[in-house]
Amino acid sequence: MAQEDVFKKLVSHCKEYGFVFPSSEIYDGLGAVYDYGQNGVELKNNIKQYWWQSMVLLHENIVGIDSAIFMHPTIWKASGHVDAFNDPLIDNRDSKKRYRADVLIEDQIAKYDEKINKEVAKAAKKFGDAFDEAQFRSTNARVLEHQAKRDALHQRYSDAMNAGPDLNELRQIILDEEIVCPISGTKNWTEVRQFNLMFSTEMGSTADGSMKVYLRPETAQGIFVNYLNVQKTGRMKIPFGIAQIGKAFRNEIVARQFIFRMREFEQMEMQFFVKPGTELEWFKKWKEIRLKWHKALGFGDDHYRYHDHEKLAHYANAATDIEFLMPFGFKEVEGIHSRTNFDLSQHEKFSGKNIKYFDPETNESYTPYVIETSIGVDRMFLSIMSASYKEEQLENGESRVVLKLPAALAPVKLAVMPLVKKDGLPEKAREIIDALKFHFNCQYDEKDSIGKRYRRQDAIGTPYCVTVDHQTLEDNCVTLRNRDTMQQERVAIADLDRLIADRVSITSLLKTL
Ligand code: ATP
Repeated sequence: MAQEDVFKKLVSHCKEYGFVFPSSEIYDGLGAVYDYGQNGVELKNNIKQYWWQSMVLLHENIVGIDSAIFMHPTIWKASGHVDAFNDPLIDNRDSKKRYRADVLIEDQIAKYDEKINKEVAKAAKKFGDAFDEAQFRSTNARVLEHQAKRDALHQRYSDAMNAGPDLNELRQIILDEEIVCPISGTKNWTEVRQFNLMFSTEMGSTADGSMKVYLRPETAQGIFVNYLNVQKTGRMKIPFGIAQIGKAFRNEIVARQFIFRMREFEQMEMQFFVKPGTELEWFKKWKEIRLKWHKALGFGDDHYRYHDHEKLAHYANAATDIEFLMPFGFKEVEGIHSRTNFDLSQHEKFSGKNIKYFDPETNESYTPYVIETSIGVDRMFLSIMSASYKEEQLENGESRVVLKLPAALAPVKLAVMPLVKKDGLPEKAREIIDALKFHFNCQYDEKDSIGKRYRRQDAIGTPYCVTVDHQTLEDNCVTLRNRDTMQQERVAIADLDRLIADRVSITSLLKTL
């Protein structure tokens, strides 16, 4: 099946099974805003818990906070967001569609990469075991030609982005590369303009007027302006970290690809405060820790890659993305940035307050450097859903849709089903749920055939189902069915907790880190 079709199916599956709904749907929706349904919220909460616990429980020197969405507007002046949180926009005059100029060019670079990869795949098929990929890449004329064009474009693009960005040059690149609008197919482009991504609103209303405030575009600044509060009240010593999960808002121009790019989304950010000069060592460490966290979910190492930034944001001295193989290619899920002392120095300057750290061991004061790990909950959700969604052909000729979610993240851990709705079986099933519901999320289901009920649970990723039958009333044993293998085994009710709890708990996942 083409990847685009898989993605479409995934989007409708998310809606049909209560994971994600378009916001305000009965009013025809609101662009790039989504609501999470009864299963989506459980999965989302489990992702957040996995992240939070991996930060705050597993690291003695990391604590959490929860700062407000509204902040003093000068904060966004100091952070650079008022002046520099812009996207370069370009419109196609024929389709009237608006695009990000940088994204159009990056897509063009990706096209060259695709061409090269196609050549490589073709040759690999042709030569079989004797194929030497490195040699092919360095000698094949067609590959070299594509590579040269790609590298030249890349260089030109990064020069343009680093020069401000140079908006005229971005437009010229689009013209020179003959990039067309995917809707109209024409090259009738406007000038490139800058567009600020922050939402603003008014706070208070007095005779003197009201104050313009912003909806935060990232959670990080709430951590920066509280770092000294936490350090002092928590008696934290450098190096230490502060973690936060919360909403962020960006007026994204090109909001596409479902929950990949939203206007209201959620971030999980951790700022790690270190001694100046040690930041690159910590940057390397956090890159490794974070990749391990992703890989522990078991989707396969080939689903991840680092993408080191060549164009660094004005505040960074090193930056990398962890990219995940989505149905539409490798895409950023998390950013890891070495932000220097830029933010803290700026807040010191704009607030006029001394927010330096006093090191009791060396008796000196300094502005800490910061390593940031920043991941979008919604993008993480999308990556997990897309890697888990499977359509399987079964031996009996039927097919099933199954979400092979990591058990620790699954919304429901166990479905308990009486074989029939009578003879005391429902009561027995409820008894099992009453004993287990304190440990994990259980669901009771008595409607339709057992086969149909299994399919329903497969579709929401429930790792285990238990069937209560007449025999159960005599021997207190049930049939335990495994989602992935579909194997069934007869187990004692008394053993259920021991058999399941470990396999579905976030604690077990954390222990693999
Ligand atoms: P992009 O280049 O895709 O716009 P970014 O580099 O601006 O992302 P950061 O500012 O580094 O993103 O934000 C950190 C994380 O927050 C991202 O890795 C992503 O997971 C998430 N994120 C950012 N913008 C959005 C959005 N509009 N919708 C959903 N998640 C987002």
